[in-house]
Amino acid sequence: MAGLQDLAQKLNVGVIGGGYAGMAAAVALAERGIPVTVFESARQLGGRARGVVHQDTQLDNGQHLLLGCYRQTLRLIEQVGGNLEQDFLRLPLQLDLHGEFSLRAPHLPAPLHLLIALLSAQGLPFGARLNAARFMLALRRMNFRLSCDMTVAELLAQHGQDAEPAQKLWEPLCIAALNTPIRKASARVLLNVLRDALNRSRADSDMLLPRVDFTALFPQRAASYVEERGGKVLTSCGVEAITPKDSGIELTTAEGTTIFSHVICAAPPVAAAKLLRSFAALENTVAQINGLEHQPIYTIYLRYPAHVTLPHPMIGLHRRFSQWLFDKGQIAGQHGLLAAVISAEGIHQELPQEQLAQKVIAELREEFGIAGQPEWFKVIAEKRATFCCAPNLQRPSQQTALPGLLLAGDYTAGDYPATLEGAVLSGLRCASLISA
Ligand SMILES: Cc1cc2nc3c(=O)[nH]c(=O)nc-3n(C[C@H](O)[C@H](O)[C@H](O)COP(=O)(O)OP(=O)(O)OC[C@H]3O[C@@H](n4cnc5c(N)ncnc54)[C@H](O)[C@@H]3O)c2cc1C
Repeated sequence: MAGLQDLAQKLNVGVIGGGYAGMAAAVALAERGIPVTVFESARQLGGRARGVVHQDTQLDNGQHLLLGCYRQTLRLIEQVGGNLEQDFLRLPLQLDLHGEFSLRAPHLPAPLHLLIALLSAQGLPFGARLNAARFMLALRRMNFRLSCDMTVAELLAQHGQDAEPAQKLWEPLCIAALNTPIRKASARVLLNVLRDALNRSRADSDMLLPRVDFTALFPQRAASYVEERGGKVLTSCGVEAITPKDSGIELTTAEGTTIFSHVICAAPPVAAAKLLRSFAALENTVAQINGLEHQPIYTIYLRYPAHVTLPHPMIGLHRRFSQWLFDKGQIAGQHGLLAAVISAEGIHQELPQEQLAQKVIAELREEFGIAGQPEWFKVIAEKRATFCCAPNLQRPSQQTALPGLLLAGDYTAGDYPATLEGAVLSGLRCASLISA
């Protein structure tokens, strides 16, 4: 015990970035009694998962969804004072493409719940459903592992998943999970997500829709947790330079300089590459980061009168601009507020925002009879929402070649695509590497 305390006293960690990765690392360090200071360049915490206010309405910079298998994210939310029952609307696995396809998992243990869901799905001929169930069983036999990575489209073709199940089932699933089209997406990473979400316990495939904004859900609570344990969380305080010194690593901000025993760089890829590019020892790391392509996510929020609702809290559309629609009234009591999400690259990127919003408004009218114009709409285009999760991607490791400097973030090495859970796992790994 005394040894651990001595170790904690010798350590002093600076974390660059107060997104989910940086705050996860900070919580894990603070929990172990290690002094930690978080530097966040923005005015608020959360990064790519942050609350945004528009027209006095609480929004997020993009509608997010968590899966029951995001165990570390959910554990940390509870650790810093969240209550999963109150913070989320929890839905059993369901995929509804309005009028085209519907899959619902019954209350049975995994993986039976999925097999029954696939066999009883509506909107696919029986042969295609049987084939989809066979595909899942084949993946289970392979332990969800591939000896060679390939694109998801190639994997589907190998397993006889023809155009209809690919378009109605696997493609929406792949885009939702990896934010990458099936012709570009890594089958190996998709299988990692399917392994964890569909194959262990039934609750792992649950979909959790947050009732609170993403800054409040975790980063803000995490900041209180860290500060209560003597740490610091500084917003509007971007790190301008990282300088290795004999005594540790110096961080420079507009306020001055501070020396730390260790630094975790949890900034997003482009910002991280900028901070690291002057170090010869990190040439490979910076090349790996610069080699990442990005994929966008667009969220279109629409404020309708309070009585306007959708048939389900979350519903998909087939061959439309809007891929997924969320009814914030049913999810979070924000009646009349709808969110349309368009993930990954596509022709929507070529449209001016006003025109894109009008397309979504027309789709809501044609699919659900929602007449008239909304009071307002807000298009949030995150052009670099996630990295493009291609096969055989070399992602930088958390441990860098510069002693004392670690990397966290959804883009760093790991099983998961760019997700909250991937970000959190990377932050926890950095904390473990330091405290080990
Ligand atoms: C619109 C959208 C929808 C998404 N939907 C989902 C979803 O449904 N489910 C899911 O799991 N994931 C989703 N994601 C992905 C998820 O949001 C990210 O994987 C995750 O938030 C990344 O966290 P991070 O901490 O790695 O990086 P970031 O969130 O990017 O955090 C990095 C932080 O570093 C700060 N920073 C940058 N430079 C500096 C500097 N020099 N000094 C100090 N601070 C700096 C930034 O301001 C930022 O706060 C979505 C992402 C977007 C954009």
